[in-house]
Amino acid sequence: MRRFSGKILCLLLIGVLLGAILPACTQSASNNKVEIVTTTFPAYDIARTLTKECQGVHVRLLLSPGTESHSYDPSAADMMAVHDADLFLYIGQAADAWAETLIQAAGKKVLKFALTDELELILDEHGEADPHVWTNPANVIQIVERLTPVVSTLPGVSEEDAASMEANAAAYIQALESLDNDFCTFWASVPEEDRLLVFGDRFPFMYFAKAYGVSYSAAFPGCSHESEPSANTVMALIDTVRNRGISTVFYVEFSQHRIADTIAAETGAKTALLHACHNVTKEEFDAGETYLSLMRRNLQQLQESFR
Ligand SMILES: [Zn+2]
Repeated sequence: MRRFSGKILCLLLIGVLLGAILPACTQSASNNKVEIVTTTFPAYDIARTLTKECQGVHVRLLLSPGTESHSYDPSAADMMAVHDADLFLYIGQAADAWAETLIQAAGKKVLKFALTDELELILDEHGEADPHVWTNPANVIQIVERLTPVVSTLPGVSEEDAASMEANAAAYIQALESLDNDFCTFWASVPEEDRLLVFGDRFPFMYFAKAYGVSYSAAFPGCSHESEPSANTVMALIDTVRNRGISTVFYVEFSQHRIADTIAAETGAKTALLHACHNVTKEEFDAGETYLSLMRRNLQQLQESFR
């Protein structure tokens, strides 16, 4: 159990005060729109796709582009946003553990929706659920199916917006199915013995790997906070790359990719990014990158790496 920091205690105190001062405050302050507050990029991107062109709905992302998602330290403004939210959308499990702090600090019952709920979770070697469910497009389909009726029936959502959401959900599910099919087709084109991903980094792609029957070797499991692998781990990865004739050592977004670079330098392999979509950079955000566009880029990268 993590100890509460002074800042979190302070947030909780603000929450208690808010609960006392604003018990009847249910609507968001932002132009009377229905306010969906999201923690990280996967939750935000699903919500904004679902509510595209819904004039009466606003989706807010708490984690700024460019910010590391696991170790984020929420602010008092974030707590206010959750307090005022009509729906609070988060990943759950270890992906955004700070979400639970915000829910507690909001000081009232917040309507909440965790992406990881009701999905079949993969346990890591410590028996803890891996939270990166969105790396399997089929999981995102299930999330959209479960989320759509929740959002379309929020108090204040107009009939017109609810109809738009139904149409958006149908189109999104179709695009996700197409993405899933394209990954299936790609992996089927790779000989079974070559279906191995080597990561000189953390490995947030367990759901992806399991969905497509791909094995993996990584410097760290899940999204471990460790940053220095043992010499044995690095040597084993170097051996794997050499023995299996691996062309590309992967790293994840927001990584310094030092370990991937070391393995590449030793073996002559290339390095490349596979984007796990925890968050995007400011440039990616401004360029309108989405979960779909980033996963399509991953597919392209895999096609190049396994040619
Ligand atoms: Zn992660």
